[in-house]
Amino acid sequence: MNGLMLQKQLLISSLIVHADRHHGDTEIVSRRVEGDIHRYTFRDCHRRARQVASALTDLGVKMSDRIGTLAWNGYRHMELYYGICGMGAVMHTINPRLHEDQVAYIVEHAEDQYLFFDLTFLPLVKVIAERCKTVKAFIAMTDREHMPPDSGVANLLCYEDLIEASSSTYGWPVFDEDSASTLCYTSGTTGNPKGVLYTHRSSLLHSYAAALPDALNCSARDVVLPVVPMFHVNAWGIPYVACMVGAKLVFPGPGLDGKSLYELFEAEQVTFSAGVPTVWQGLLNYLEQGGLTFSTMKRTLIGGATCPPAMLREFEDRHGVEVLHAWGMTELSPLGTVSAMKSKHLAMRPEDCRVVQSKQGRAVFGIDLKIVDAGGQELAWDGVNAGELLVRGPWVVRNYFRNEGGNPLQIDANGHGWFPTGDVATIDADGFMQITDRSKDVIKSGGEWISSIDIESIATSHPAIASATCIAAKHPKWDERPLLLAVKKPDAKVTAEDLLAFLDGKIAKWWTPDAIVFVDSVPVGATGKVLKSRLREQYSDYLLTS
Ligand code: ADP
Repeated sequence: MNGLMLQKQLLISSLIVHADRHHGDTEIVSRRVEGDIHRYTFRDCHRRARQVASALTDLGVKMSDRIGTLAWNGYRHMELYYGICGMGAVMHTINPRLHEDQVAYIVEHAEDQYLFFDLTFLPLVKVIAERCKTVKAFIAMTDREHMPPDSGVANLLCYEDLIEASSSTYGWPVFDEDSASTLCYTSGTTGNPKGVLYTHRSSLLHSYAAALPDALNCSARDVVLPVVPMFHVNAWGIPYVACMVGAKLVFPGPGLDGKSLYELFEAEQVTFSAGVPTVWQGLLNYLEQGGLTFSTMKRTLIGGATCPPAMLREFEDRHGVEVLHAWGMTELSPLGTVSAMKSKHLAMRPEDCRVVQSKQGRAVFGIDLKIVDAGGQELAWDGVNAGELLVRGPWVVRNYFRNEGGNPLQIDANGHGWFPTGDVATIDADGFMQITDRSKDVIKSGGEWISSIDIESIATSHPAIASATCIAAKHPKWDERPLLLAVKKPDAKVTAEDLLAFLDGKIAKWWTPDAIVFVDSVPVGATGKVLKSRLREQYSDYLLTS
């Protein structure tokens, strides 16, 4: 027997309609590529999103057509989030930090019909334009005054001209909630980038889960500044969550350095933010050098890579900012787990509580987790046994766009599909998951596994160390042994012996790195994470030759 409740399709357009109706005067503030600060409201955003949809309709864009964007976090990008998805077309956010060949590849692979871009990316657009055969026009996200003269790009349109000429009375269409809404390519640390195609339904369910108190914990009393880019898994869902709960939004545009971010945090009284550890490191260094702290910041979500315990301590103890360590991936829209404490943890000694908090956390409702051994057998949740992490849920990928790479799922005895994350993890009795490595980063020494992340976390808690990266290097006897690449803090004095002595007793003896190499910096990839693959190549023979 079916229940007797109303059916309403879960559509992305309903988020901006809600924000307009219930939080119409709540602000969206953006640092613009043009250099100034722009401010308007959710109501303005909704009006202009309808103009975007109307303009795209006039250009002949239809349901399911892919529309690309190469843009920073800003109000025009937000209008595209709603204008494109709201009309039933597919928003394809492209990471401009990818190599130009990869950008051209994914524009072609997605068959983007139009490509919107911030002026910063004009040089990139010039290089790829010829190769993007499906793109009918490139649209510069600026006004007429700032349009580049002699851009050299054929079919160049101006965003403000385009929407100015369009009607703001556009009515959002209603269609199947399982329709494709958004396309994001994984950054392709291995092989070609693969497209993950979200649906309206998956995006809305993800937003409900992400807004929960033990996840982003966002409300109409928050001022949210997503440092994580809107081209990186929908800024972890923040543009949707903000509309759902009516939080004021602050977009940093291209200003991601410590000074620009700090000024915006203070001027707009930001209470919540989110980003990867490498960006936070830049901001924390800026605060330390200037003897500064935050006046309104309450919490920050840190994910995308392990949050070093030293960073967690600095945020909480020095700046009074609560850290929510979270784990996810493009294939999960991206949220999977958040390390939010349970009431029983509050009675623990602070240092023990920190150990729990440093884990990647427990599943948000909707996500099922399990860990399996090499033979696919499920492992116990004892916080000790480590195995490959598998997930399932209504915002987890079922297949990649155009079936790239074949069906990724593993099917269990009940016929349920599980997505293998490529991460190696433990799960404790309270359900807190801890990533010990990515399967390709695990150091396999004499058949046993060494967690590179554990060693890095301890090394970065040394007061003289800014960052530490542990990789597998070839070894004649043990196959692989750990090699630690460390970056010193400015003017700090520390030797390899000091660091080895610091690690002594904190990790198993046989985990001790065979060598420590001090480097000036480590390469960072398109999503702000350390490129371990490149370091592994570069240092692969280090222990054999030195
Ligand atoms: P890419 O694979 O291109 O880096 P994602 O941004 O989707 O794309 O990265 C997902 C991966 O990032 C996860 O599979 C995991 O290895 C890593 N990751 C994400 N969050 C964390 C975290 N809090 N701690 C450790 N690793 C994380």
